[in-house]
Amino acid sequence: MATAGIHLAASRTTFADLSGGRLREGAGGLHLVVLSPDVELARACLAEELRNVGRGAAATWADLRDTHATHRRLGDAYGYPACCVEAFCDAHAEAVLQGDSLGDNGLAIARAAARSASFHPWLGSLPGAFGAHAPTPLRHLPCRFDCAASLSLAEALYADLARVDPLRHRRLAAGLTRPVWVDRHGVATLASGLERSATHWSVKLPSGASARCPVRPRAGEALLPTVLPFAPRHSPA
Ligand SMILES: [Zn+2]
Repeated sequence: MATAGIHLAASRTTFADLSGGRLREGAGGLHLVVLSPDVELARACLAEELRNVGRGAAATWADLRDTHATHRRLGDAYGYPACCVEAFCDAHAEAVLQGDSLGDNGLAIARAAARSASFHPWLGSLPGAFGAHAPTPLRHLPCRFDCAASLSLAEALYADLARVDPLRHRRLAAGLTRPVWVDRHGVATLASGLERSATHWSVKLPSGASARCPVRPRAGEALLPTVLPFAPRHSPA
């Protein structure tokens, strides 16, 4: 299917969007869709995505290399910065090697947070967490929440969006203005009431409960749960 030179490749089957960004085949769910000016590229990317859905943890080095080759081909086709694709592959390898049942998205988010010196409001793209309402034009997880290559990509996408859809541009351009809480399963939730002590962040969750985590995890300390202090009240010391 093509409109205005853009081709669309869509899966026949539908998928349920599970916590932590995982997909599982399920009736009444969402179709997986790839858009591209190049119809063959759209079809090839969709085929790779479908091959990757539901794939279990790698059992051999060849499986792990194959999964990473898929991430790199898709990341390159979608224009994601190479630094972010490599960080995603590293987190995936660590999750597999540790037999981490939490999956790789939570680990990748926690490691990006640990690398970040600051949290840019445009880079809060968290897999599946905010869906179509994500206050960012990005659709990849940055290697850090102050990644220069991701910020350049966001600027370029915002410039396009300002031309074709000024209303949506105005709605998105403020970026994330609230802190985000990522739990032990990699599930991200918008929080409020961000406070920082010498050693800990604390936030209020939508349930009314409070949650806290270390500002910088110590060696050997669990990386999840974590607070992503977008729009902090107190700038880091
Ligand atoms: Zn990056």
